[in-house]
Amino acid sequence: MSTYTVINPSTAEPVTEVALATVEQTDALIERAQEAFPAWRDLAPGARATLLRRFAAVVDDHIDELAELEVRNAGHTWSNATWEAGNVRDVLNYYSAAPERLFGRQIPVAGGVNLTFHEPLGVVGVIVPWNFPMPIAGWGFAPALAAGNCVVLKPAELTPLTAIRIAELALEAGLPEGVFTVIPGKGSVVGERFVTHPLVRKICFTGSTEVGKQIMAGCADQVKRCTLELGGKSANVVFADADLAKAAATAPYAVFDNAGQDCCARSRILVERSAYDEFLGLLEPAVKGMKVLDPGDRSSEMGPLISARQRETVQGFLDEVDVAYTGSAPAGDGFWLPPTVVLAESPDERIWREEVFGPVVAVMPFDDEQDAIDKANDTEYGLSGSVFTRDLGRALRVSRGVAAGNLSVNSHASVRYWTPFGGYKQSGLGRELGPDAPQAFTEEKNVFISDE
Ligand code: NAP
Ligand code: MG
Repeated sequence: MSTYTVINPSTAEPVTEVALATVEQTDALIERAQEAFPAWRDLAPGARATLLRRFAAVVDDHIDELAELEVRNAGHTWSNATWEAGNVRDVLNYYSAAPERLFGRQIPVAGGVNLTFHEPLGVVGVIVPWNFPMPIAGWGFAPALAAGNCVVLKPAELTPLTAIRIAELALEAGLPEGVFTVIPGKGSVVGERFVTHPLVRKICFTGSTEVGKQIMAGCADQVKRCTLELGGKSANVVFADADLAKAAATAPYAVFDNAGQDCCARSRILVERSAYDEFLGLLEPAVKGMKVLDPGDRSSEMGPLISARQRETVQGFLDEVDVAYTGSAPAGDGFWLPPTVVLAESPDERIWREEVFGPVVAVMPFDDEQDAIDKANDTEYGLSGSVFTRDLGRALRVSRGVAAGNLSVNSHASVRYWTPFGGYKQSGLGRELGPDAPQAFTEEKNVFISDE
């Protein structure tokens, strides 16, 4: 059996070894999940709800432990990591209300009664990336379990530790064996097998657009359901009438949080030309003031990149452009890069078009409202975006004009577990979170009962 050495990204030191599952082991665990399915599906809705609430309570008892694991494994700042563990708890609590509320409909017909049912799919495969290991896992497994499915989950090879611990906590909370199984392993082994194994009835994938396309193509072979949460190149559109101080003070956090390794990162800032110089003047101290510190330091606002490879990829983008200025970053062996600002010269530059997934933002001026919308939409992606303006009509027009799934006005908040989340265009397929997520883990069945 092969193992993977987990590395602490802020020191480049090894943390621990994790065994990587083989195809045979993956098959055995998928079969065990299938065996656990009928009892989980048939559990009374209130009993399933109680178990999910207990799961949430056990996670809540371990927030600090989970956060510490994520600081060490992913280099997430302490404040982010505690929020992320709390998010798993909150998402479980939110979807624990779903089993008793998976309503069907009664649709009027002649000659009888027509009913719809939301039935669970069976085994659902969740494939998680390394950028937000805990929340993205929870957004998949919590609604899937609530809808009566069993879940097999593959964490990213780089960041398996919190998922492994959460699966132990599920057992401690009383979830039956096989209902929720974490299978650490390679994407090309475990992830692929989720796609090809006939007992896995849906894939819930978050990661790169490139791999997402392969997953979708693979799912076609068995007409397997899939939802995809992929990359982004989101725009932060700042109009001259906005509260420029607020827009400039918040812009760095909207892109450099998690060292820019965020599919929602507002990695393109579009500024109305008449306010361009003033905005840039306000942005610089905000970027330079960001606290890029050891992620275990409670005041750290940005940690390292996930890996040496990711830092090389990001550096490759920076080698092609003139950097306007940077913030600071610690010296040492970790995978550090400072927050970096680039003034984009042309919309054809790679820095303006491609997802960098690092602490880099590109800034460009625009002329008017239509130009702002056109520039924001000049991308294959469409995940999120922000609009800063004091004009409510304009805020609405631009929010409706930008082809993206999650827009925020005078704010950068785009993810709440009780509202839907997902991408337009090549940013994804389907939606996660919000009140409808459990239904995406069901088949809708229609039954007609004759009254004759
Ligand atoms: P990735 O390859 O798409 O990985 C995401 C997940 O898919 C991981 O668990 C990975 O396993 C798994 N996987 C990889 N190949 C697979 C396959 N053929 N079949 C099934 N599962 C497979 O992403 P990455 O290589 O970690 O990152 C590359 C770039 O993707 C980043 O630089 C960034 O631009 C983008 N990205 C976006 C997001 C997002 O939230 N939208 C998240 C992560 C990355 P392994 O762990 O074994 O690789
Ligand atoms: Mg990859």
